[in-house]
Amino acid sequence: MIEASCHCGAVRLEIETAPETVTSCNCSICRRTGVLCAYYSPKNVHLVPAEGATDIYMWGDKSIEFHRCKICGCATHWAPVDKTLDRMGVNARLMAPEVLAAARVRRFDGADTWKYLDEA
Ligand SMILES: [Zn+2]
Repeated sequence: MIEASCHCGAVRLEIETAPETVTSCNCSICRRTGVLCAYYSPKNVHLVPAEGATDIYMWGDKSIEFHRCKICGCATHWAPVDKTLDRMGVNARLMAPEVLAAARVRRFDGADTWKYLDEA
């Protein structure tokens, strides 16, 4: 079990495993928020408190909720609006520095080709 928390501590994420890789993406939102994204099944991530501590930003087709702490503004995670989908992203910059340092950073071209730049 590892933990991620926003700066003020109002939002915590309890996560079953440390990430082996995190993704640095250049899409319109990630390049601005500066997140490093660790992907999980929502089954393996427990948001504390479960509701009420985050504000949500959505745009475009509004299929993904981008959550940020209501108090300190840290981008905490994203989740699909369709809760049957088995994928979410946690901002790995909220994890302990040694946890993040142990993960390999992969660069994803979310702005254009929608491919990992380190793929052969
Ligand atoms: Zn906060």
